[in-house]
Amino acid sequence: MKSDLTCVTCPFSCSMEVVGQGPEDLVVVGNRCKRGLAYAKEELFAPKRLVTSTLRIVPEFLPDSEQWDLPRRLPCRTRSAFPRELIPELLEIIRTIEVVLPIKSGDLIRCDLLGTGVDLIATRSLP
Ligand code: SF4
Repeated sequence: MKSDLTCVTCPFSCSMEVVGQGPEDLVVVGNRCKRGLAYAKEELFAPKRLVTSTLRIVPEFLPDSEQWDLPRRLPCRTRSAFPRELIPELLEIIRTIEVVLPIKSGDLIRCDLLGTGVDLIATRSLP
């Protein structure tokens, strides 16, 4: 297997050529430091992504008034990168979550999502 990857671990954004059959025999060329190899192993064999979404707010906490100029859903994200193969299952969970206000940016919404150790947090304070 041969792949071209760009390491996004730091602003150097090294362009790397990666050759190998599995995580143990990968050879990386073009990386400025050993973090490039770690990035290539994760990206090719256990990719992760930061997940952002929005959550339903319990309707009783939303005023009927047209004066409400804030979002009617709460923005959220995973606190750290989440296993890519589990993202569809995570989005199903996110669809079922309802939050009550007030809430602060950074508040914990759910911990240890699907046993990964990754938390879901609010990314905006409301109201
Ligand atoms: S290989 Fe090292 S220097 Fe290059 S982008 Fe990755 S972390 Fe930065």
